[in-house]
Amino acid sequence: MAQSYDLIVIGSGPGGYIAAIRAAQLGMKVAVVEREHLAGICSNWGCIPTKALLRSADVLHTASHAKDYGLTLEGTIKPDVKAIVARSRGIAARMNNGVGFLFKKNKVDIIWGEAKITKPGEIVVGKSTKPVVEPQGPVPKNTLGEGTYTAKHIIVATGARPRALPGIEPDGKLIWTYFEAMKPEELPKSLLVMGSGAIGIEFASFYRTMGVDVTVVEIMSQVMPVEDAEISAFAKKQFEKQGIKILLEAKVAKIEKGSNSVTATIEKKDGSSEKITADRMISAVGVQANIENIGLEAAGVKTDRGFIVIDGYGKTNVPGIYAIGDVAGGPLLAHKAEHEAVVCVEKIAGLPNVHATDKSKIPGCTYCNPQVASVGLTEAKAKEQGRDIRVGRFSFAANGKAVALGEDQGMVKTIFDKKTGELLGAHMVGAEVTELIQGFVVAMNLETTEEDLMHTIFPHPTISESMKESVLDAYGRVLNA
Ligand SMILES: Cc1cc2nc3c(=O)[nH]c(=O)nc-3n(C[C@H](O)[C@H](O)[C@H](O)COP(=O)(O)OP(=O)(O)OC[C@H]3O[C@@H](n4cnc5c(N)ncnc54)[C@H](O)[C@@H]3O)c2cc1C
Repeated sequence: MAQSYDLIVIGSGPGGYIAAIRAAQLGMKVAVVEREHLAGICSNWGCIPTKALLRSADVLHTASHAKDYGLTLEGTIKPDVKAIVARSRGIAARMNNGVGFLFKKNKVDIIWGEAKITKPGEIVVGKSTKPVVEPQGPVPKNTLGEGTYTAKHIIVATGARPRALPGIEPDGKLIWTYFEAMKPEELPKSLLVMGSGAIGIEFASFYRTMGVDVTVVEIMSQVMPVEDAEISAFAKKQFEKQGIKILLEAKVAKIEKGSNSVTATIEKKDGSSEKITADRMISAVGVQANIENIGLEAAGVKTDRGFIVIDGYGKTNVPGIYAIGDVAGGPLLAHKAEHEAVVCVEKIAGLPNVHATDKSKIPGCTYCNPQVASVGLTEAKAKEQGRDIRVGRFSFAANGKAVALGEDQGMVKTIFDKKTGELLGAHMVGAEVTELIQGFVVAMNLETTEEDLMHTIFPHPTISESMKESVLDAYGRVLNA
């Protein structure tokens, strides 16, 4: 007879593993099916290994500027790309093992293989179509295998994979996706990055700091198109100062491959075109959800533009089948997947006061140099919605801590509703802003107004004081500018 559970989760990424752990905490009998790597894209090929690479880039950048801090470094500092990649892969492996440990601790069964829903309440697990490679290492011991399993509830958390443009498909050799970009065997001399979203810009930043000649091609009118235009323009100037070439309103129209290089024909909005030859190219034009071959059609689960349709609690249109994370639509971020996981499981468990996920307050962070972080409405979006707004700005150049750190290139921008004082959006660029943004996220969640923020005491000296000054500036009360 098929082994049965209260909950089966398909996929062990940040959505899936958090759902499984929360369900186990709530007393459910839980299993997770995984075909490739525990902890999903985030820990193995996304959030964590990129941050490890970028940390090496930060250290290299700081060491290269040792003189600015009164330090003499003898000898030259140069990247050892094999060691940098080995460090990043080691960290990914540690995260992956950590999830295995958490499953054991919470008595969550792991079923190794490829899951397909056969009907609501039943899945069949077949042989994985994906090779199990590093950082996963061997399939963990004590996992269950192929067979039929039943569950009262099934959560689909199958994530996403790189999107490819027709004619410019990644080949893994000359045209990379994030998989190859994450573990280069050697540094190319030149690199073309197609797409300037978070993934494209983080790799552009990493490779440029490593000394690679980097060109970024972006079809929209600004880099990091979802960010506030002013913040994006600020960041672009910094990237260009570092030597990154950026082509906006431009698209890669054609690719010709040489034996060890690619030549891209770039078409611009003004009708002109140019050819750029680079050793390697990264295709960073977004991701697409893993919705195929998991039995959604047979079960009658609705999808829209490639993503599973859910309500604020992860429910699909089919009772007993839920979806969370990247497979259920944007923003395609690990913390959104984790939050949806908890909301979905607590709703299944019948807990009181479970709030639907509010997508308007999900922060976004890009860990390039300088970092970019934001939450809520951009100035353009607020105006588009017909809001009457007040905008505050504060430059890191007037913040003592930022100057002391040698990190005075940055700014904070805050957007308030003129009538109510509600904080509508906060946008930051500069050192450590990915850590600082959470202050504004908490503020927005508590429906804070400008008054509350002005009454809050920020520690001195910290870069966070720029956050308060930006609020003061919106109300004509800025103190240090
Ligand atoms: C280079 C890069 C950098 C990123 N950086 C950040 C960042 O800094 N911050 C951030 O918030 N987000 C970042 N992301 C995005 C983040 O990785 C994703 O949003 C997150 O991993 C989504 O989690 P998930 O659980 O929905 O899916 P995933 O992490 O994709 O996990 C899905 C899992 O399901 C498994 N699976 C799929 N189909 C089946 C099947 N049929 N049977 C069994 N198992 C299956 C897969 O093997 C995978 O392990 C980054 C992504 C990339 C690519």
